[in-house]
Amino acid sequence: MNIAGFVARNARKYPQHQAVVSPESTHSWAQLDQQVNQLARYLSQQHKVQDGDRVALVLPNSYAFIVAYFAVQRAGAIVVPVNVRLAAPELEYILQDSGAATVLTCSMTDEAVKLLQEKGTNAVWLDDVDHLLQDVSNAPVDCDSDDDDLCALLYTSGTTGRPKGVLFNHKALLGVATMFAVEMEYKPESRLLSLMPFTHSAPLNLSLVAGTMVGCTHVVAPTFTPDLLLDLVEKEKTTHFFGAPVAYRLTAQHPDIANRDLSSMTHWIYGGGPLAADHAQLARKAFASDQFYCVYGLTEAGPTGTLLLPEDHATKAGSIGYRAALNTEIRLVDEADKPVETNQPGEIQLTGEGMMLGYWNKPEATAEVLTEDGWLRTGDIAIRDEDGFYWVKDRKKDLIISGGVNVYPREVEDALASHPEVAESAVIGVPHQEWGETVKACVVLKSDLDNAEEALKAHLKPLLADYKVPRLIQVMTELPHNANGKVLKHLLRAEQST
Ligand code: ATP
Repeated sequence: MNIAGFVARNARKYPQHQAVVSPESTHSWAQLDQQVNQLARYLSQQHKVQDGDRVALVLPNSYAFIVAYFAVQRAGAIVVPVNVRLAAPELEYILQDSGAATVLTCSMTDEAVKLLQEKGTNAVWLDDVDHLLQDVSNAPVDCDSDDDDLCALLYTSGTTGRPKGVLFNHKALLGVATMFAVEMEYKPESRLLSLMPFTHSAPLNLSLVAGTMVGCTHVVAPTFTPDLLLDLVEKEKTTHFFGAPVAYRLTAQHPDIANRDLSSMTHWIYGGGPLAADHAQLARKAFASDQFYCVYGLTEAGPTGTLLLPEDHATKAGSIGYRAALNTEIRLVDEADKPVETNQPGEIQLTGEGMMLGYWNKPEATAEVLTEDGWLRTGDIAIRDEDGFYWVKDRKKDLIISGGVNVYPREVEDALASHPEVAESAVIGVPHQEWGETVKACVVLKSDLDNAEEALKAHLKPLLADYKVPRLIQVMTELPHNANGKVLKHLLRAEQST
């Protein structure tokens, strides 16, 4: 099997159904399949792309991205999606690390174009797909591959260090796609809205790949804004949306949200980072919907591990649910990989059919995270409560040890989120002579707050043990985010030491 075979199958089953709706155009499955054939042929013939080659996609969410993604796989190569918002040195790192000799692109910064020219990288411009492919035969390209053939190399977002290339074969992508399609009740009539970049594993594997497996329609646009989200739901009558927590926080504050018709939506899906219980409840209220699903996972797990279902949001918002997703198992273990007791912190480990094969060219890093019996060490610390629900406390790497006591920044961030004026916060450890580290909160406010530092400390005091209350609070206009909207805590930490 080959993941790109889903497109060919949809073209046979539903040739005239809408496959991709974008701001500029609408394409059916038959049209998409033809252009996937053409581009696959063009890459093999004109650019000598062969089985196992890495081909980078530096494209925003668009029809061109979708043609390119499946064409690379149909040509037998490994697709390497790269966020268009990365700066030139970040792009250079990924191209070098992956060894991608060909880049499919259309919208890049001048700086990035210069970089590709200097490096002599083979760039294929997809600004006008029809024009590029007008003379190429659209006869079917044989896309038989072995299930075990590699087909995707996805880079992590690099919030804990340099991005790592995570490898998948066709079988693993089929595993994760099947899981999500079943869990989210995808049907050929479903209309999936994708505004989060396909270069992240969640929108890519959970929407694009899983939705294509079922024959859903992809409604895509290059960037997320709250206005666009609301407009496209109303106009295109979409049914599913996957968004990072920040997308929900921002849209919930949209002044016109109460007047919008969002009734077509059956699944509001969030994940990729924590959404504090208070923000989750605010979002449910603002979106006037109970159909909220939280997905917990990481790129290395395809990315899904667990789900918090709509019926559990009223009592367990802020947790990541009580069960692993279909095709997946979860365990919570101590340093010796032994199960921990209820309410005791342990590392989340996952196993299942959608797990990565390993990191690209990093055997030592792979051996560190994959156990011999096939479990993935996630590096996330969680507890399992008496009802069996998992609560992520934090990533091991973000843990603050102050005076020998552990402080989980997310617990402090959740407490800050319950203050009505707090839009976002990031809690870090800063060096302290006596205690090793002390707790500092960087906070973005919704509007001015008199004597903010004291007001926030007073808010936290009844909610947290004394040693967890930040000694330092800095109000900032914004926090540094990566291209996927995640806060880059290492930059905040670096600022402390300069
Ligand atoms: P890097 O590994 O390079 O630092 P990254 O970890 O940001 O990049 P992702 O795979 O996108 O790349 O992030 C996965 C992490 O995000 C998980 O390990 C977990 O800490 C966090 N996460 C994901 N979903 C949730 C969720 N629903 N609730 C809480 N945390 C989550």
